Amino acid sequence: MYLVSACLLGLKTRFDAAGFGPFCENIITVPLEKLIPVCPEQLGGLSTPRLPSEIVDGRGEDVIKGEAKVLNSAQQDVTEHFLRGAANALYLAKLYRVKGAILKDGSPSCGSCYIYDGSFSGKRLPGTGVAAALLQENKIPVFNEQKLFPRPHNIKKDKR
Ligand code: SF4
Repeated sequence: MYLVSACLLGLKTRFDAAGFGPFCENIITVPLEKLIPVCPEQLGGLSTPRLPSEIVDGRGEDVIKGEAKVLNSAQQDVTEHFLRGAANALYLAKLYRVKGAILKDGSPSCGSCYIYDGSFSGKRLPGTGVAAALLQENKIPVFNEQKLFPRPHNIKKDKR
């Protein structure tokens, strides 16, 4: 089993109530019965649509350590929601004993290769979002829609 960002399955969970659908092309080759859709921001209690958020002065691991915050574009502190959503995603990962998580890159929750720099100017920087970082800290591999995608032949060997 794998967690997957709900928006990659076409669910309209993004901050602007959009999704990537009906399926991300890379995800479609994974059997649906192997995928558990999660949206950490919704699991953290944020509404949809919502204002976009970015990690300020750090990355996901810094948020977990209490050394950085997540602010929305109105400069409201939504750190608590992101931490709660990450904890709920980890709970599901452990409950289902997932082999990994396939998460949407660039998101302040789900990003695994890059996130945005907190200036809301579209500037990227290497790093992970809060949920991706918490999963990785708990030894759950995080893939994304572009890279390190688990191919079907690997999944067939996976008994979980
Ligand atoms: Fe998609 Fe993750 Fe953002 Fe939810 S938090 S909309 S699953 S990228």
